[in-house]
Amino acid sequence: MKTSDVIVIGGGLAGLMAASVAASRKQKVTVLTYGSGSLPLASGAIDFGSLENLPAHHPYKKIGLKACEAAAKFLLDITAQANLPYLGSVSKKIPIVTAVGTLKYSALVPESMNANNLANKKKIFVVGINGLKDFYAAMLADNLKKYFPDKTFETTKIDLHLLGGRDITCMDAAQLLTDNEQPFANELKALKASKDDAIIIPPILGVAGDFSRDVVQTQIRAQIIETTCLPPSPPGIRLQRAFMKYLQASGVRFFENSKVVRGITDGKKVTGVVVENAVREKVFPARKVILATGGFYSGGIQMRDFDQPREPIFDLPVFFPTGAENWSNIQLFSDKPQGFATTGILTNDNLNPVDADGNVLFDNLHVVGANLGGVDKIFERSAGGISIASAYKGAIL
Ligand SMILES: Cc1cc2nc3c(=O)[nH]c(=O)nc-3n(C[C@H](O)[C@H](O)[C@H](O)COP(=O)(O)OP(=O)(O)OC[C@H]3O[C@@H](n4cnc5c(N)ncnc54)[C@H](O)[C@@H]3O)c2cc1C
Repeated sequence: MKTSDVIVIGGGLAGLMAASVAASRKQKVTVLTYGSGSLPLASGAIDFGSLENLPAHHPYKKIGLKACEAAAKFLLDITAQANLPYLGSVSKKIPIVTAVGTLKYSALVPESMNANNLANKKKIFVVGINGLKDFYAAMLADNLKKYFPDKTFETTKIDLHLLGGRDITCMDAAQLLTDNEQPFANELKALKASKDDAIIIPPILGVAGDFSRDVVQTQIRAQIIETTCLPPSPPGIRLQRAFMKYLQASGVRFFENSKVVRGITDGKKVTGVVVENAVREKVFPARKVILATGGFYSGGIQMRDFDQPREPIFDLPVFFPTGAENWSNIQLFSDKPQGFATTGILTNDNLNPVDADGNVLFDNLHVVGANLGGVDKIFERSAGGISIASAYKGAIL
């Protein structure tokens, strides 16, 4: 097996980003992953949270503002190349409409979700789909009215003829509409919306970039705005596909169903990793390794009962809050973070893992994404931002 310049372990948002950035710098990149990561569940928007007044151990302190900005620009570039235009920047806050009709502010958002112009619209149509799970046009309109009390709202429902005896998801509808948009466009045309209006729909305009949206939007004068939805989420899947397109075009070797079981190390260097499949183990040699295995959800961090959590591949030390009282905050939606969500690996400024005294354990291993510890990324609304920015930095070092 040839030695890779970079092996990326994990094909979630952070792994895809790290592999893309490394490939853009002419590195020979191999991605080893299993499962799908959390991107197919996610909204597709990237939250950066705040980069100000951060504690010393915060991942952004290690990553730095420059890498955050470069990461945002890189994502805007590769999504544009995949005809999935995004807009925004690290410091922007662009509103998107959630499936329940609240506004959520994000740094980088798909153009199809940009709700910035809602305030200038005359009338807002909210379009539901017969049989679509977890999307209630009337409830959405009622909640959105609270932000725009002076607007006229109209709700309606469209039948995609997809029911076949079961409820459908946004993913079912998006798959149906990929390359088959015209009947839906005809239904929207019947609303007779003007160019001063907006039409809010669930995120169902295709799964491959904005091709389906382009077809529909060119026929409708009103701005079409997609909402977020419950998983599986077409906008997250579109972003995943945009990355995959870039990786394929860049010649990155991508191995799915490849679980890395351990690293091969020599002093402070990682020289390769071992993948286990049903019949044998295989060694992948590397000059540098990026660990993008995610947190508890994806198995990048593991824990049995309430003992010390572990990182299963390199046996890296894992930070976690001690004492049951610091582990969780019983007020789920209070103004305080959850202790357990701060669990993860701590690093130096090069994103190399460190021990409790700050000593670097491996100087060609970089930890990126959801497995970074020290902060509750959900509470801070920085999960996507930390994933892409740490991945960017890990890839350029
Ligand atoms: C429902 C939901 C909604 C979200 N919405 C938003 C949002 O609106 N904005 C935002 O900014 N963020 C959001 N996020 C968070 C964001 O999507 C995640 O922070 C981000 O996707 C984490 O990416 P990651 O690559 O670090 O980890 P993951 O996505 O968990 O990927 C890790 C990958 O590594 C693989 N892996 C693990 N162990 C191994 C191994 N031993 N060998 C090989 N592969 C391995 C896993 O199988 C997985 O594929 C959301 C997340 C969820 C779940």
